[in-house]
Amino acid sequence: MTTQALLDQLNKKIASLPAKDRHLINQAFDFAHQAHQGMKRESGEPYIHHPLHVTLILSHLAIDGPMLAAALLHDVVEDTAIPLTQIEKKFGQEVAQLVDGVIKLAKIKIKRTPTFWPHFLVRRQEERFSFEHQVKSLQKMFLAISGDLRVIFIKLADRLHNMRTLHLARPDKRARIAQETLEIYAPIANRLGIGELKGELEDLAFPFVYPQEYQNLKKRVEEIISEREKYVDEFIKLLKRFLESKNIIIVDIHGRAKHLYSLWNKLRRYDNNLEKIYDLVAVRIIVKNVADCYQALGLIHSRWNPLIGRIKDYIAMPKPNGYQSLHTTIFSETGQQIEIQIRTPRMHARAEHGIAAHWSYKEQTQKTNRAFQDVQWIKQFNELRSIINDHKEIKQILELDFFSDRIFAFTPKGDVINLPRDASVIDFAYAIHSDIGNACTGAKINGQIKPLATRLENGDIVEIITQKNSRGPKADWLKFTRTQKARAKIKQILKIR
Ligand code: MN
Repeated sequence: MTTQALLDQLNKKIASLPAKDRHLINQAFDFAHQAHQGMKRESGEPYIHHPLHVTLILSHLAIDGPMLAAALLHDVVEDTAIPLTQIEKKFGQEVAQLVDGVIKLAKIKIKRTPTFWPHFLVRRQEERFSFEHQVKSLQKMFLAISGDLRVIFIKLADRLHNMRTLHLARPDKRARIAQETLEIYAPIANRLGIGELKGELEDLAFPFVYPQEYQNLKKRVEEIISEREKYVDEFIKLLKRFLESKNIIIVDIHGRAKHLYSLWNKLRRYDNNLEKIYDLVAVRIIVKNVADCYQALGLIHSRWNPLIGRIKDYIAMPKPNGYQSLHTTIFSETGQQIEIQIRTPRMHARAEHGIAAHWSYKEQTQKTNRAFQDVQWIKQFNELRSIINDHKEIKQILELDFFSDRIFAFTPKGDVINLPRDASVIDFAYAIHSDIGNACTGAKINGQIKPLATRLENGDIVEIITQKNSRGPKADWLKFTRTQKARAKIKQILKIR
């Protein structure tokens, strides 16, 4: 596809935005186009195609002027000589902050160590703990640092496009990126209820992280799935005629094959028994309203026998991420078991687009396309809270973001250093290694030279400057240290002297 064709697609998508926003987005395109001039993706395509694809993916989720502009600009600062201040001058603080958030999130990387295995494959208890701990803290940090949910949306779309083109990336990079996608990005998409992104991210990562398992599963289910798709197609025709004859208005009805990675996960819980997986290919019915959902369910049960224990009312009792639907599994005339999911258009949008869909709906009711504009993180967080419903988890995020006593800073390589609030460069240095603490003389914070007493902030990138012949810790360092480790080491050395 040509650059112009992609831009045309984008302009079509944003046609409903006010002229001011459309102008902002087009200016952002021109700017990014210019900045990435001559650069190429690993696929050989012009680099600008990447931000364009990312913006198109996003525009499918939610339409917001500053967010889409920031998506177009998201790689400009990192990959060209243009500083963030220039983005701010040209596009304003809001867009610049979104771009800055994306840059900070990019520093969150999983450490790939020889013991790095998914928790269910790790035999040793302590390794499993340390793995789960790392993943959990990375996920939370991701949410805390982003500060604005739009930053997460951009980052998820960025990752999705990178995953779609992962086979073109350098082989040594593939496994790490895919692993991160499985352990951090997909769970966050899931937590925000963006099922569409979650499913695709997982399926794209699966073959790179577990090549053997992926091949085996694919071989095993390919035929079964295509067989089931055939009879589900037949069943759908029958079901549609039946419901319409009872005056149920069907907005949409389709079959959907289960995502392979989620199937693999489920199989592990069900003794690897494919017979027990009823939603390998499911039928999805979308009807006008909630009353029709229950009526359709009743009608279906009056004609086909339901399987005991398989009727689930996620409308009355939504899943923790906000998912709503009625599920049932019935025996068809030909003896097959078929799972049926019934929901309203709104529930469907929520299942596919999660919290982003929530905003699109609000937009429509408020007759404004700028629903995001005045939404502060705290308001967004309340939305998030109503969707997550997991109080323990929320408390943890809250603690991180608002009343937090912890901050996260990064080494230049992207390793995460978790410190108490008000921690200084000295704490950071000792957190890496006591030798580095003892020899530190200063630091570069986000590229600028700063004194040892400098307090660190969430997302800072800290490069410690050491000198071999430094005279070591001084008594006044204790004034600037918060961590037990740093204080103990400093006192120890002061005593020795
Ligand atoms: Mn990118």
